[in-house]
Amino acid sequence: MSHTPAPEPRTPLPTPQRRRRPGTHPAAKGTETPLGRKRRARRINRTLALTFPDARAELDFSNPLELLVATVLSAQTTDVRVNQVTPALFAAYPTAADYATADVVEVEELIRPTGFYRAKAANLVNLGKKLVTDFGGEVPEALEDLVSLPGVGRKTAHVVRGNAFGKPGLTVDTHFQRLVGRLKLSEQQNPVKIEREIAELIEAKEWTMFSHRLIFHGRRICHARTPACGACPIAFDCPSFGAGPTDPGEAEARVTGLEREHILALVHGEEA
Ligand code: SF4
Repeated sequence: MSHTPAPEPRTPLPTPQRRRRPGTHPAAKGTETPLGRKRRARRINRTLALTFPDARAELDFSNPLELLVATVLSAQTTDVRVNQVTPALFAAYPTAADYATADVVEVEELIRPTGFYRAKAANLVNLGKKLVTDFGGEVPEALEDLVSLPGVGRKTAHVVRGNAFGKPGLTVDTHFQRLVGRLKLSEQQNPVKIEREIAELIEAKEWTMFSHRLIFHGRRICHARTPACGACPIAFDCPSFGAGPTDPGEAEARVTGLEREHILALVHGEEA
């Protein structure tokens, strides 16, 4: 009689008891090998995929131009605030030519709640002009073309390439930068150098989603001031475990976002 063994129960996350104490992770002690770091980076990516299955760009958009404009507006403010102003903005200026010929004062009024509205409005009008004169009114796909646009840096260019054109890109924003530092995946301070180092660790096809997951993690669990270490799904792989409260109750109170219940169930081993 053939016998099919019962599948092993899946326990995707290490139990809290197995989490390392602060300072005891090989990465914290400086004894991690390059291969160990790559394996750990990919394991972190897999755990974050379980934790944030809906990770995505949190800016609302329906075409590349809208995403480009929303990303320019997102500097120094929250995505929520940008999403509050963009419906009226997108309705008033549906094409690059509309921005090129816009009254800058009218643009300023529409985007005022996002802060730095004078500089941002000037950028949007100049961006429209450049798109019309150099790119036939279309948003270009190439990185070097995108960064030639007013108000568009590497981070914005990768957001647009990854989310509007499906081209893998690493979005090194403040959350990403803080997280790769805490995780000791990169010790660089310069965003371009960070991007290069992380590109060596994570598979290219995962770059865009890894960026979203890390940014979600930074917004919901690994906060800048007080990270929720005691309720962190990647604590086992984090050399900075203990940077925030490790007491589960105290840490859980710091977990935010719509995914909160799912995250806590995952950490408690109630979800596979
Ligand atoms: S919350 Fe704590 S354990 Fe988790 S990644 Fe951040 S510093 Fe590391």
